[in-house]
Amino acid sequence: RFKHKVAVIGSGNWGTTVAKLVAENTREHPDLFEEDVQMWVFEENVVIASDSPHYDPAVGDAPQKLTSVINTHHENVKYLPKIRLPSNVVANPSLLDTVKDTSILIFNLPHEFIGSVCKQIRGHILPSARGISCIKGVTVTEDKVELICDYISETLGIYCGALSGANIANEIANELWCETTIAYNTPPCDRRTEIGAAATNGGQDQQHRDSRGAVSKVQLTPLSRDYPPIDHAELRKLFDRPYFTVSMVSDVVGVSLAGALKNIVALACGFIEGHGWNMTAKTAVMRRGMLETIQFCQEFFPETIQEMTFWESAGWSDMIVSCTSARNWRCSKLAVERGVSVYEVERTELNGQKLQGISTTKEVMSFLRGRGVENKYPLFKAVEGIVDGTFKVENIPVLFRH
Ligand code: NAD
Ligand code: 13P
Repeated sequence: RFKHKVAVIGSGNWGTTVAKLVAENTREHPDLFEEDVQMWVFEENVVIASDSPHYDPAVGDAPQKLTSVINTHHENVKYLPKIRLPSNVVANPSLLDTVKDTSILIFNLPHEFIGSVCKQIRGHILPSARGISCIKGVTVTEDKVELICDYISETLGIYCGALSGANIANEIANELWCETTIAYNTPPCDRRTEIGAAATNGGQDQQHRDSRGAVSKVQLTPLSRDYPPIDHAELRKLFDRPYFTVSMVSDVVGVSLAGALKNIVALACGFIEGHGWNMTAKTAVMRRGMLETIQFCQEFFPETIQEMTFWESAGWSDMIVSCTSARNWRCSKLAVERGVSVYEVERTELNGQKLQGISTTKEVMSFLRGRGVENKYPLFKAVEGIVDGTFKVENIPVLFRH
């Protein structure tokens, strides 16, 4: 029997954590998945410190390929240090080799790199592959805002769902319990119980719809009948762990946008705390930020947004955790405390990890400005102003005075 081959595209802090938990599950479900999980690594050289258990005096402090270190020591020493990876996580420096014959593609890298990755793999993936995006961000032009999973779907011609939640990678890698949300609308052509129905109505029910509910321009190749299905039950088997509880929903818009926009609010909370205010001010900003997030979803994706999504892990839980303990919050707080830019803190504190909040703020504001509605989003606009040095943190309360 055929099994799904799974690959993770990306190997940062979250990419490596997701590769770990997925590889634990492919081992536990050999009937559904091939055991090995390929993990694409943007290759770089690393130096192993002399106090590391992986230090080899024969190599000394000579630079080594990150892929070779991961495959030898089963640890991503740069992006997820001190976490042992299952030996079936296989680090691969070749993007095309990683995706070859892969039926489930998990996209997990900073959103600014998704365009270049998709362009490189277009035409080199199984036409019937399916995707899950763990990326928190959006792609934006002045007149269009697009979900990352829609961008992936349109560029590669495959269906792609979204995974997002209150998920601090280091905690999950240490197997501290949390929840997550996966939004996946099993495409009609993959719903095996509906195959007979489609034959009787000329296939109209088989048409795949995009996240705005419109008939998609993407002509999906049905999932091969030789493989096990991919639907909510199979995705749960791939992602759910005793320390990682998955909720399955169908609202791809809500899950994707809540994950992207909370990074703007997390920056605001860091600025607030760096300024010396505390939880009461931060919760006010979280509430205002959530209102602007819901307003954004309703204004630009009114057809499919479901307000209950904001009560999932991808909604309020992610807002709270991101505004109290994630990297965007931590770096913006340090930026105010040190009187330097957030970019400077990212460079000095994150050892190559990337913040998504600043670019998302700029992208979302350029889109809102292009539509002439930027003043309807005062908190998002203030975050952009603080980043650019044109707005003062202490003026945030003024935004909301009647
Ligand atoms: P990261 O910030 O830890 O690492 C940055 C990654 O980018 C590295 O793997 C690096 O090799 C790669 N990279 C650098 N230059 C590149 C290039 N030119 N092309 C391709 N890749 C390049 O990454 P992460 O934390 O795994 O974040 C991935 C996504 O997951 C982001 O959208 C983030 O918001 C989201 N996320 C992160 C966490 C978390 O706790 N880290 C939790 C949930 C969601
Ligand atoms: P940061 O990228 O700010 O660390 O956010 C991680 C996250 O998405 C928590 O759910």
